[in-house]
Amino acid sequence: MINCPFSGTIFMYIEQTLTGRLNFMAINVKRPNGTEDVLPKDVHKWHTVEKIARETAECYGFSEIRVPTFEDTDLFLRSVGETTDVVQKEMYTVMAKETKFTLRPEGTAGTIRAMLQNGLLNEALPQRVYYILSCFRHERPQAGRLREFHQFGLEMAGSESPTADAEVISLAKTLLDRLELKNIELNINSIGCPTCRAKYYEALRAYFEPHKEELCDTCRERLVKNPMRILDCKSPICGEIGKDAPMILDYLCEECSDHFEKVKKYLTNLGIEYKVNPKIVRGLDYYTKTVFEFITTEIGAQGTVCAGGRYDGLIEQLGGHPTPALGFATGIERLLLVMDKQGCDFLTPKTCDLYFATMGDAALEKAMELTRELRELGYRAEFDLMNRGLKAQMKYANKIGAAFTVVIGDNELAEGKAMLKNMDSGEDVPVPLNDKFTANFDSVFIDRMMASFDTGDMPLPMFQTNGENN
Ligand SMILES: [Zn+2]
Ligand SMILES: [Zn+2]
Repeated sequence: MINCPFSGTIFMYIEQTLTGRLNFMAINVKRPNGTEDVLPKDVHKWHTVEKIARETAECYGFSEIRVPTFEDTDLFLRSVGETTDVVQKEMYTVMAKETKFTLRPEGTAGTIRAMLQNGLLNEALPQRVYYILSCFRHERPQAGRLREFHQFGLEMAGSESPTADAEVISLAKTLLDRLELKNIELNINSIGCPTCRAKYYEALRAYFEPHKEELCDTCRERLVKNPMRILDCKSPICGEIGKDAPMILDYLCEECSDHFEKVKKYLTNLGIEYKVNPKIVRGLDYYTKTVFEFITTEIGAQGTVCAGGRYDGLIEQLGGHPTPALGFATGIERLLLVMDKQGCDFLTPKTCDLYFATMGDAALEKAMELTRELRELGYRAEFDLMNRGLKAQMKYANKIGAAFTVVIGDNELAEGKAMLKNMDSGEDVPVPLNDKFTANFDSVFIDRMMASFDTGDMPLPMFQTNGENN
């Protein structure tokens, strides 16, 4: 592929004709709507979230699981639910050899499928897994939502105890705190179990029935299949009608009510502030009892940065033994949006530690040899790959932010030593170009690291430029 002068357009070499002639065709290749490229200059932000997410999950006893990007379509029909927007409008489904596959629209279904298929639920309970993966939903692009987006999420299976709910919510809270997110509010609700929900659905249907004609098309359908989801509708008319709808919390059975009280008590014990919000019903069918969302008002209407809850019926629904379970997911793009907006800290991206500027083939070979030794120690070292002149090489070293440079030419090779230049301070230090080079560089580098710490009035250890360095 060759960059062409028209910005964003790429010329692709397409075909070789029967006569052996190459045909070039210009095609305007751009990424699909609703997808994003993460460029090298931004990837450290992703690494920050992924690293902190992994560390947080692992200190709560979760291990990583990796599952396929696509699954049998049936899996999502049976888990996410046939009445949901996700299944009805947003799934990317392909027919391949008469089998229907769907790109995962969320992470829970595939993760539970994998836990069942691999017998994880026969091992020590609770089973705790986390994942970092991409999801695919064919959403309207004008809503500013991505069609490929990324999630960090986790699932805990085997515990029906409210302590598990508190544990999972506490993990989510710890993660958001470690990412240094501010002004995030935890909203919780209980949407009960099938027993209490049957009575609640009756009450909801009775409430909405007189307004049936005013509801949006989707909600008219929901009225029959899943009236609770009308409360989740984004249409202002449905919102207005639902304002005084009966609340699930008034219909909880004794067990669900007791469970919810305990979750609230444990959260209070843990010092986690929350607000009970009866409007939180979650968009997917498989939730039971506790549901929760961490919400911020700082990114407009898409304010949910983390959402989850309990789904005690899902595993049985997917063919396993009845096993209570719960989890949550966070959208990584949304986390990054809030982090950027709030000026949160990100891990510093690794830059070049040492750049060799060389003159002549012999010097280049020396640089290649020393580079290899430095890399063995974990340093990021580079040399000229572009046949540039010395001046251009130094300019490049500046551009990539090299911490140190060494110039090697005929004189340096003849004398067996060169000058190591600290690019920040401009200081030069002589270093031998032999097997002592890496050890020398190591100590200079460590000195520079120490100098960057705030040591107050304490004198810094100085690097000795005499003795064995020569
Ligand atoms: Zn119940
Ligand atoms: Zn509606």
